[in-house]
Amino acid sequence: MKSSRFRPFALISVSLGALLSAEYSAGQATDAEFAITLPSARVELRDAPSESELLAPTRVVVLGTGTPIPDAFRAGSSIAVIHKGESYLFDAGAGAVRNAVVARYKYDIPSLYPSLICCVFFSHLHSDHTMDFSELAHTMWWRRNAGLRAWGPEGIERIASGLLEMNSVDIELRTGGLQPVQNPDGFRVTAQTIEPGILLEKDDLVIEAFAVDHGDIHPAFGFKVTTDDVSLVISGDTAYSETLVEKAQGVDLLFHEVISQQGLLQNSPGFQRYHNAAHTTSEELARLANIARPGLLVLYHGLYYGTEEEMVLDEVSAIYDGDVILADDLDVFPER
Ligand SMILES: [Zn+2]
Ligand SMILES: [Zn+2]
Repeated sequence: MKSSRFRPFALISVSLGALLSAEYSAGQATDAEFAITLPSARVELRDAPSESELLAPTRVVVLGTGTPIPDAFRAGSSIAVIHKGESYLFDAGAGAVRNAVVARYKYDIPSLYPSLICCVFFSHLHSDHTMDFSELAHTMWWRRNAGLRAWGPEGIERIASGLLEMNSVDIELRTGGLQPVQNPDGFRVTAQTIEPGILLEKDDLVIEAFAVDHGDIHPAFGFKVTTDDVSLVISGDTAYSETLVEKAQGVDLLFHEVISQQGLLQNSPGFQRYHNAAHTTSEELARLANIARPGLLVLYHGLYYGTEEEMVLDEVSAIYDGDVILADDLDVFPER
């Protein structure tokens, strides 16, 4: 049975289509009810971030907590960091862009409107982290101020040119007819191959990539993001990584993938071997957290294999006494 944590993705999916109110059960702790109004089909344009966006504290929105396994309640991996009116995505698994639209209205974050999202950083190029690259790059591309900027491991440029080829018919249809096209170059993606090190510095925002150990899938990266008011590390997919332990020392938020120790045992010997090489078990993660001591450990990209999702929290908490939660899609930090 699914956990009782709130499930906004499914509820909203059946609600969109008109100006309406939707009610959600808001979290397992209080079960408080609240209502939000979601606008339908609103075209949003923006020359630059507003004053209030520039002054807002950094926020982190979890757009997807899932894995390659289809899940009605979890989009593919994606975490958004919103800083001074720009949204920086870390991975873009299937459904992430849909969740960005929901989060844009649920949390009033204009830069999460898909055609306003400036940047995406891919930890590695497994499809559960990249399936929404096309959605992100080409949703209403003709209204983009600038094409999407993408960073990723070797292979990112090949994927970007593949997306361009896939959407070339759309581009020809829209630019060759009556449709007004605000930016005829809005579809162009700038793809950059990354190495470990600092990828982007903007004002007080620093985004750094570091190598992790995703078994025989390499290169694979984790990310460290620091701003004037928060520090966080995003693991991407990795086995226990000494580099990550070092980068995550004392960060405010550590988003880390996990495979349930009990869940792992449900797998065939071949898959156990693969997962042990490529992912971090709950016990390994607890050991890692005991050394890194993040302010909050946030589990995402959980592999459960039929065990109760909450069991993975018990497995971690049995060894790690710090604060730890299991993320749901659309979780936000700080909450308000
Ligand atoms: Zn993955
Ligand atoms: Zn992977």
